[in-house]
Amino acid sequence: MSCKTSEKLVVYEGPIIVGAGPSGLATSACLKKQGICSLILERSNCIASLWQQRTYDRLKLHLPNKFCELPLMGFPKNFPKYPSKQQFISYMENYAKHFEINPLFNQEVKKAEYDQGLGGWKVKTKDGFEEIEYFSKWLIVATGENAEPLIPEIQGIEKFEGKLVHTSMYKSGVEFSNQRVLVVGCGNSGMEVSFDLSTNHAFPHMVVRNSVHVLPREIFGFSTFGVAMALSKWFSLRLVDKFLLLMANLTMGNTDRLGLRRPKTGPMQLKNVAGKTPVLDMGALSLIKSGKIKVMDGVREITKNGAKFVDGQEKEFDSIILATGYKSNVPFWLKDCEFFSEDGMPKVPFPNGWKGGKGLYTVGFTKRGLLGTSSDAVNVARDIADQCTRAV
Ligand SMILES: Cc1cc2nc3c(=O)[nH]c(=O)nc-3n(C[C@H](O)[C@H](O)[C@H](O)COP(=O)(O)OP(=O)(O)OC[C@H]3O[C@@H](n4cnc5c(N)ncnc54)[C@H](O)[C@@H]3O)c2cc1C
Repeated sequence: MSCKTSEKLVVYEGPIIVGAGPSGLATSACLKKQGICSLILERSNCIASLWQQRTYDRLKLHLPNKFCELPLMGFPKNFPKYPSKQQFISYMENYAKHFEINPLFNQEVKKAEYDQGLGGWKVKTKDGFEEIEYFSKWLIVATGENAEPLIPEIQGIEKFEGKLVHTSMYKSGVEFSNQRVLVVGCGNSGMEVSFDLSTNHAFPHMVVRNSVHVLPREIFGFSTFGVAMALSKWFSLRLVDKFLLLMANLTMGNTDRLGLRRPKTGPMQLKNVAGKTPVLDMGALSLIKSGKIKVMDGVREITKNGAKFVDGQEKEFDSIILATGYKSNVPFWLKDCEFFSEDGMPKVPFPNGWKGGKGLYTVGFTKRGLLGTSSDAVNVARDIADQCTRAV
């Protein structure tokens, strides 16, 4: 494979991959295994930028390592069951080195569109003032489900005079020591940030607006996720959910009483139909029980020095942390593409959402984390390799 530079276009003979996160790296490695070189365009200055630049210090993989390995190269034998963020980053750096993957950094894709006449994808990047346009027959979207922070519209938020950050900018509770902190959101990040704040002598108040499934991370020493995956091979998701909730009630007690109302639909069924991930408890629950993390109802309004809640309470806060999740950025740069819906996710759900038409592919948009990434990467590489074989 090689690049041919014309006056206007850099024509690449192999696939172009947008994004050098785990999905982009895994796809590039799987393509290489098939003898196909790819070009990765990455907006930041490193691989796995979400993990290197936009996650908190205490982060460990939420799932055991066997569910988070990329294809073709497992974790080192000496890694723990739940590798730390640093270990995961070093694994990905070694992965890129091993497969000789060298993304082009500081290349934010601003626009990509199919060119009917040329029969391929024109991909425009911007590096400072310099614009470059690439062309390939294949475009692989690997920009992630978590490309941009999701900032909710909350009345009065612009008036707040304290520190206001999204979890993507949060590093450690040390900076918030002795502060009253409002954490908006109760997913895995909201829970873990609240835990981190409390253990660093801050006073977190966590907003739980909707219902949420909190599950123990492990059941009798086995990963809850692993148990659920194993059981779902034999039993219906409804039965698996019954078992998980029974175990959760036995080990954690009734979480509804703590202000963490469970949804009517069970955790696995909810994940399956709505992509909503249950929270795996990393220690926050015991701090909620002991009152060190306060659970608050929805926020009605943010004031200049605090918040008013829907139940009528009003409290002062020094800082607010938005643990409100992320969104895909595909609609901002991929033009006229029927394959994606408005929220930047493929319209076709897992396991068939990896292939669009006209040489378009996606990797890592499965709502199934790194497990979904692996299966997509293998499928995409095999499909492109088949086309190359047929073309010869
Ligand atoms: C706090 C946290 C913890 C998590 N823990 C787990 C876990 O334990 N297990 C698990 O399976 N999953 C976990 N996830 C989900 C995790 O995000 C994914 O599994 C994994 O990072 C997805 O990889 P990706 O390559 O698809 O996306 P990303 O890691 O987001 O990588 C996408 C890359 O694309 C780049 N990019 C975006 N837009 C453009 C553009 N326009 N032009 C060029 N480049 C662009 C980004 O800079 C980024 O480097 C976690 C997520 C978060 C936020």
